Amino acid sequence: MGFPLAMDLHFDCTQCGRCCHDLRLTLSVDEARTWAGRGHQVDLLAEGWPWPDNGDPNDALIQWRKATSFEVQVGDVPFRINLRLVARHIGPCPHLLPDMRCGNYDERPRICRIYPLESRPFEAASPAGRKCPPEAWRNDLPLLQRDGVPASGEAQALLSAHRQAMIDDVALKARLASALGFADTAFAGEGMAVCEIAPPALLTALEEAELGLWDATQHWTIVTNRQSTAKMLADLDCPARLVSAGSAFLPTFADEH
Ligand code: SF4
Ligand code: SF4
Repeated sequence: MGFPLAMDLHFDCTQCGRCCHDLRLTLSVDEARTWAGRGHQVDLLAEGWPWPDNGDPNDALIQWRKATSFEVQVGDVPFRINLRLVARHIGPCPHLLPDMRCGNYDERPRICRIYPLESRPFEAASPAGRKCPPEAWRNDLPLLQRDGVPASGEAQALLSAHRQAMIDDVALKARLASALGFADTAFAGEGMAVCEIAPPALLTALEEAELGLWDATQHWTIVTNRQSTAKMLADLDCPARLVSAGSAFLPTFADEH
């Protein structure tokens, strides 16, 4: 069954707990510090877009990408890199209680409060893209989204705060990558390069980045699991490395070697 994107959605959580399993939760820097401070795993993900000019000022998606990324030169090619801090858990979230309630309810990250709404701008929530069971979407339940827009002011405020953090954290995350010695990025749309960080190492690197002990200057390399992309980048004198799907590279496409 398909669902139109811009639509009214009614919803109530059934507390099935599915959304608290096997996830990468996008966190702000402050949330990542708290998460790692409790000993839980946080990864840093990287994706880069070739950025030959300043981007169309009338294209809101391009301007959002620009606001949430920083400029680098990869060989002869200008790129913008987006870094995402994510809480990663395989299986249940470390805060999930046996009865599927959240054991961290009052301090859960914003992204948990936003779900099942869509955290990314220019996209609306859709039941097809969520883990919630069909009975959570009955039309007699409270209104969640009207014509593609969150129905409550509280949800809109949460989304605004989440997106603003993605903008405000850009410079600090760039310095954090330097502190971690992480300088691999996936090519736009092909997946994400991954830096897995032990919680104590993340806390130390964050502290050093905040103290300004590192700047954002690094020699970035594009990692790709597609031979055709690696060749195209090599032809442009853009440093690139062919990799395979795995813990250090989350692919959009199957390996093409
Ligand atoms: S913090 Fe709570 S709501 Fe968020 S994934 Fe973990 S258990 Fe679920
Ligand atoms: S998957 Fe949906 S219905 Fe189930 S606990 Fe998460 S938000 Fe609630």
